[in-house]
Amino acid sequence: MDKLPFALPGRFLRGNIHGHSTLSDGGYTVEEVCRLYEQAGYDFISVTDHFLPHYNFPMADSRPCRNGSFTTLIGAELHAGEIEMGGIWHLVGVGLPLDFAKPREGETIVELAARALATGAFVAAAHPAWYCLTERDLEALGPVDAIEIFNGVAIDHNDRAESWHLADTMLGRGHRYLTYAADDFHGVKDRHDFLRGWVHVKAEENRPEVILAALKAGHFYSSTGPQIMDVEVRAGDKIVVRCSPADEIFVTGKGSSSVAAYGNGMIETVLDISKFRSPYGRITVRDVHGERAWTNPFWFD
Ligand SMILES: [Zn+2]
Ligand SMILES: [Zn+2]
Repeated sequence: MDKLPFALPGRFLRGNIHGHSTLSDGGYTVEEVCRLYEQAGYDFISVTDHFLPHYNFPMADSRPCRNGSFTTLIGAELHAGEIEMGGIWHLVGVGLPLDFAKPREGETIVELAARALATGAFVAAAHPAWYCLTERDLEALGPVDAIEIFNGVAIDHNDRAESWHLADTMLGRGHRYLTYAADDFHGVKDRHDFLRGWVHVKAEENRPEVILAALKAGHFYSSTGPQIMDVEVRAGDKIVVRCSPADEIFVTGKGSSSVAAYGNGMIETVLDISKFRSPYGRITVRDVHGERAWTNPFWFD
């Protein structure tokens, strides 16, 4: 349970860690993207433009958009090589240095991911379901911090926003990925990719370094609407969930293992996990509108 953020000091900061500007294929400038999210009540974002030659390898400098209550992390979407189903790899890198070197000729996605991780950045496999990423792809990629389990732009692109199937398959094999939701905001015609999925990061200060450390440590949860205030494990066989009003709460684990509670506007729920057989669990809170919040996976050893 060490990774769950709920008992940690600080407050939850809301952020979007995957989105684009006019530096690549987005519809708004870096400054406009920051202003949109700040006015929507977000505490931080990362603008992650496509780090590709035809955009001249942009690394969005969002530092001028930082102020006393809103901050930014430098990031990019990194590309190299091919995925099994065809097309180029997409990795999200958050907390990259502004002078992150462009990929060298022939650099593989494995090498690029390792180079991004070596800078201390949070590195994740982007939108697996949208691009039909496979287990073979992820096994070949090797270690990264996270899997993007919800991608807002995929909602209107091919209706495959959610990637829990692949994430749970890899978790079931023992890979300890973190998981997050993001808009992948582009702000262009025929995409409703603003305010669709985000993270709540527990941090004591709204500074990029503090948020990056919390992301790397897994001190966050994801949401498309509901809030999770607390998840507490009691005496090893009960989990107490406090959240915004929910109609279903799930503990999900390896294979088909699950424990569920059903109600009408539940705000404090005790789940009996004495018969839950899985090396890991994760909590899903679903509200009356079908919107969901997800904790990171937590491991019982
Ligand atoms: Zn992408
Ligand atoms: Zn993207």
